[in-house]
Amino acid sequence: MELLKDLALSRFAVDRAAPLRTDQEWLSRAWSTDTTRVLVLKDSNLPLTDDLSLIWVKPEAIELTLEQVQPHAVLLGADDDHTYVGIMNDAASIEVVTWAALRAVGAQLSAHDVGLATTAIAMSQWHATHKFCTRCGSATSVTQGGWARQCLVDGTDHYPRTEPAMIVAVNDGDDRILLGRRIDWPEGWFSTLAGFVEAGESAEACVVREVFEESGISVDPNSLQYLGSQPWPYPASLMLGYRATAVSADITVEIAEMAQVKWFTREEFEAECIAQTLRLPNPVAIAFRLIQHWYGSDIPIEWTRK
Ligand SMILES: [Zn+2]
Repeated sequence: MELLKDLALSRFAVDRAAPLRTDQEWLSRAWSTDTTRVLVLKDSNLPLTDDLSLIWVKPEAIELTLEQVQPHAVLLGADDDHTYVGIMNDAASIEVVTWAALRAVGAQLSAHDVGLATTAIAMSQWHATHKFCTRCGSATSVTQGGWARQCLVDGTDHYPRTEPAMIVAVNDGDDRILLGRRIDWPEGWFSTLAGFVEAGESAEACVVREVFEESGISVDPNSLQYLGSQPWPYPASLMLGYRATAVSADITVEIAEMAQVKWFTREEFEAECIAQTLRLPNPVAIAFRLIQHWYGSDIPIEWTRK
């Protein structure tokens, strides 16, 4: 089984420049260099041009000194032409007409822009919620080009966390697909089942457990096929995509988080999408790609909740 190619937020075209994160001299120089490009975030939204490119500005457009900007800056990457820096949510402002959420425009951004933007948003979310040391509770300061925080009292280094979650297209022997609607989603919104990997659990065991918890369906553990992963920085997930085959058919929804779980035949799926009584995830989501993988050809954008 081939992996899904070019998952929207998995695309990355710029070197992450990890060795430069600890080079304080280089980082300081980068802020005063004309070829540095800065991405400003506003409430986790991205500044966009009319044709859906990210707006990158020079450091001089940000009216902050090096000392002022460093606690809020992350080195995103570097290529032959530019060094790319992300400024955390609301730490700086620029005059921009259009701000948009990554989850809304991620599939339209270039590979160059989307990888840097996804990283900037993920890091911004992490910094916002990890200001204190998990060992002693003291304040931490930003180090390593924005890629770590260090406790001011005991010196412990803290690094960004990523939370693995599985997402799975379950099929049965009759070529049906299992989709569910979460309790907080409007009528008609359906997606593949998903859930967080628990401590001490493998992703594969999580697939089997979550599918059973959310639908009462048993899947054959030997049927699992891994189809690829995509970061989902809301706030820190890494979605691990699978397909699996069910060995039971009867659905029982007992947990409070799911409003509805249904099997769809190919005919029901098409008819309901056309009638708009079934609304699929935005193409930016790995769920969309898993559903399209089962469907076997391109899914019209009109069938999605874009
Ligand atoms: Zn500490």
